[in-house]
Amino acid sequence: MPTHDPKPVVAVLGGGQLGRMLGLAGVPMGVSFRFLDPSPGAGAAAVGALVVGTLGDPEAVAAVAAGADAVTYEWEGVPASVVRPLVAAGVAVWPPPDALEASQDRLAEKQLFESLGIPVSAFAPVDDAPSMATAHGAVGPRAVLKTRRGGYDGKGQIVIDESTDLDQAVGLLVPAGPLILEQFVDFDRELSIIAVRSRSGEIRCWPLVENRHRGGILRTSIAPAPDSARLQAAAEQAIGAIMERFDYVGVLTLELFQVGDRLLANEMAPRVHNSGHWTIEGAVTSQFENHIRAILGWPLGSTDPIGVSAMVNCIGALPDPATVLDVPGAHLHQYAKTPRPGRKVGHVTVVADDAADLENRLSRLRAALPADEG
Ligand code: AMP
Repeated sequence: MPTHDPKPVVAVLGGGQLGRMLGLAGVPMGVSFRFLDPSPGAGAAAVGALVVGTLGDPEAVAAVAAGADAVTYEWEGVPASVVRPLVAAGVAVWPPPDALEASQDRLAEKQLFESLGIPVSAFAPVDDAPSMATAHGAVGPRAVLKTRRGGYDGKGQIVIDESTDLDQAVGLLVPAGPLILEQFVDFDRELSIIAVRSRSGEIRCWPLVENRHRGGILRTSIAPAPDSARLQAAAEQAIGAIMERFDYVGVLTLELFQVGDRLLANEMAPRVHNSGHWTIEGAVTSQFENHIRAILGWPLGSTDPIGVSAMVNCIGALPDPATVLDVPGAHLHQYAKTPRPGRKVGHVTVVADDAADLENRLSRLRAALPADEG
């Protein structure tokens, strides 16, 4: 038999719920984990060694990466400058730092999509009041002003319409850094596609997912997205083009707006994603397992769905496990996080054979969940 490393080590930058679920997928395959996180209470500590330190600190990153077979991240805020020295030293860092960097700047991201022929809504950079006037003229009266960096869950964004005082809107956001103005998209719904690329260049995609947000936070994902088969090829082509551009390895997520039969790219995340949590029970191979397989150079597993699934985030409060688990096909995931208003502290996935069955189970689940505070 060929020799092989019996227990590969993966170092993960970030130790939140995504790291925890990467660990939960990798440990059964014989992988051991080290996580770097600023919080001594990080939830991933349940599934691996925790190094407490700053994600932007080169020394802390080097310490957690030392001797690891692969280094990855579960938070796209990790500065590319702290992982590039690892790549230069021959460490397997996946996904590539260039993809990480592009995802951190909404302007670079939109320009990347455009350069690959992926449709996006009109956009223009904004740095101050004069450039806002120019951008507003180019993009149109209904728009969204966003910080280029650091925004998440709808934070750092202002919706612009005819009644908005443009100078005031710029004044509110500009202290956070440079901005981007995007045309407001009257979308029919929000979708995401998640794909994984192996070290040998094989790409597999999970089916499109429909994502429903409230207050800027993802509440529910339905997978596969109903009535989305005709959109799947375009979504796969878009995410495939991004992966090829970076010689990408690991899981990548692309968030999309559906307008009629068109898909517009909104943003990408170079990591496993909340809209892919359903894959744990709802697909042959989960996003977490395939990410680990990809970065360790192992064959990818099938991304086929098993029936139909709905994933509901638990925001601000945890449900009573006994009540949730009484719903047929329900699976509960708690993240070991202290509940706070608006904070994702767990999720529930319900799997069913068909759409009607799923709808039934989902309404039972909703009745079992506490009214969220998000
Ligand atoms: P983002 O941080 O870019 O994912 O934006 C958060 C949410 O704001 C999205 O999930 C959409 O619901 C909404 N949104 C963002 N950009 C636009 C846009 N250009 N037009 C309409 N809605 C948007």
